Amino acid sequence: MIDVKKHIIESDVLVVGGGIGGLMAAIAAADGGADVIVAEKSDTRRSGSGATGNDHFTCYIPEVHQCGIEVILEELNNSLVGGNADPYIQLKFLSRSFEVVQDWNKWGINMQPHGEWEFNGHAYPGRKRIFLKYDGYNQKEVLTKEALKRNVRIVNKTPVTDFLTYNGRIVGAIGIDITKEEPEIVIFKAKAVISATGNTSRLYPSITPSQLFNTGHCPNNTGAGRAAAYRAGAKLINLEIPNTHAGPKYFERCGKATWIGVISDVMGNSIGPFVDKPTKELGDITADVWHSVFTDKMQDGTGPVYMNCTETSKEDMDYMLWGLKCEGDTSLIDALDDAGVSLKRDMVEFTKYEPILVGRGIEIDEFGRTSVDGLYSAGDEVGNFRCDISGAAVMGRFAGEHASGYVKDVNNDGIDLFSHKTVLEAQKFYSRLYENKGSSTWEEFNHGIQSILDDYAGIRYVRSKTLLESGLEYLDHLEQKAKNELIVNNSHELMRALECFVLLQIGRLICLTALERKETRGMHKRSDYPFTNPLLNKKFLTIRRLENGKNELEWRDMRIN
Ligand SMILES: Cc1cc2nc3c(=O)[nH]c(=O)nc-3n(C[C@H](O)[C@H](O)[C@H](O)COP(=O)(O)OP(=O)(O)OC[C@H]3O[C@@H](n4cnc5c(N)ncnc54)[C@H](O)[C@@H]3O)c2cc1C
Repeated sequence: MIDVKKHIIESDVLVVGGGIGGLMAAIAAADGGADVIVAEKSDTRRSGSGATGNDHFTCYIPEVHQCGIEVILEELNNSLVGGNADPYIQLKFLSRSFEVVQDWNKWGINMQPHGEWEFNGHAYPGRKRIFLKYDGYNQKEVLTKEALKRNVRIVNKTPVTDFLTYNGRIVGAIGIDITKEEPEIVIFKAKAVISATGNTSRLYPSITPSQLFNTGHCPNNTGAGRAAAYRAGAKLINLEIPNTHAGPKYFERCGKATWIGVISDVMGNSIGPFVDKPTKELGDITADVWHSVFTDKMQDGTGPVYMNCTETSKEDMDYMLWGLKCEGDTSLIDALDDAGVSLKRDMVEFTKYEPILVGRGIEIDEFGRTSVDGLYSAGDEVGNFRCDISGAAVMGRFAGEHASGYVKDVNNDGIDLFSHKTVLEAQKFYSRLYENKGSSTWEEFNHGIQSILDDYAGIRYVRSKTLLESGLEYLDHLEQKAKNELIVNNSHELMRALECFVLLQIGRLICLTALERKETRGMHKRSDYPFTNPLLNKKFLTIRRLENGKNELEWRDMRIN
């Protein structure tokens, strides 16, 4: 049996995931007077999708924008982070976004790298620009320091695998200490939990399927918070609407808006209607609007499609290379150099990456509260709001602020977590994997999940009742096989194996919700319902697990206020 550590780690607020959302939540909760712990799978100084930096921070600065907040809200919804979000949360986010920008600037993240508030990239000609250009290469280091200054305790190398509830409210979580060869189960006791574990990488095959970790976002983010929240009874939302990012082909890196070029055909001619010449102010927003441009052009034979920087001025080229460094895309710059690519001479082929859940996941309200008492969520794992880095930062703050007040009225005395059903079941299951005598690896398991989801619930083919139901059946079969045959030799492999069970669970929820959405919308293409149903406009689909283990699927209206 895998040991459970004798010492329970106790706090008012437990933050799960020390990325941007998690650290901002921890800082805000500590500022609100709470005793805070961050449990992080990796090391908060360099973890998550914001690990190496970012360079665009969506925000509203009234004196710069010189317009009402509704104008900026409209631009937000026309951008890559728009749609599938409740406007009442978007408005609250925008109204406090500048406050966070100012704090970051004060703390040492350079939000005015050229001395003024500069909005560039992801922009339409003649419209307000909403993406503040900043230099985020040190953001994780700075936020970690700010958290430590406030006596937040950071427990690195401890992936959280489940949340613990008692009488319907959150009382803690389980993690695994992976610092040693032999894993140990860690119990966290808390009055509130803020889940912020980021996106879901490794759910679908990457652009180079044999390389599991060649993903645009952080490959270690595999949806743990969503799965744990679902098991704890929280509602998940918008899972069935696929979302993709784009960037250089065969070398997955986010950051396409940092490129200052024109999305072009093989002759170097602009494909979209937005720009003919590269400008740092606009970039080329074509791929944010026409997500399938790259695959459409491959399928009709008029591709490939390129990022064309050959007409970019020297000044803008320098600005672009600086921007790529701000968001930590230095390995990409090195790879281009190694391959002898000159951006002044050569166009770079771009492509659409695999589907990923960002802004699809846990349902929250404007305070970051989920439908389970004491459980909050922020960042990429939220399902009814999305704004990437700034969304994670601002909504993380909201969740931390609210949680620090909530815990004042909560009493966890007398709750025995060593004999909690979830702890005992987890210990049994993890030990079973550890003692299995099978011959299958977690990598094979991960590839299996990806193949099934790609074939039966992806975007490469259509979706339909028969395909989705077959996918569900294959996932069940694979899960059973993995339980019996997976081989796990150390704490690292146990972590990876458990990530795969999470991915499988999320894949199953995608199938179930995709079955329920009987229409075609965006990249959710149903061959048996090949039309967009106007009755489902501005409607979101939620799923939650009932106590009897059954799923409850519900439609609800988008909330304006
Ligand atoms: C190269 C690149 C460039 C980008 N550029 C921009 C940009 O310019 N502007 C923008 O708005 N967005 C950008 N993004 C997206 C942005 O980085 C993310 O939206 C943002 O980091 C999300 O924050 P988060 O806190 O939700 O998740 P993350 O920052 O990804 O943090 C999640 C954290 O959870 C931890 N974790 C995961 N599982 C567990 C577990 N089981 N237990 C404990 N911890 C766990 C992870 O290790 C990680 O620390 C970019 C992304 C990339 C990859």
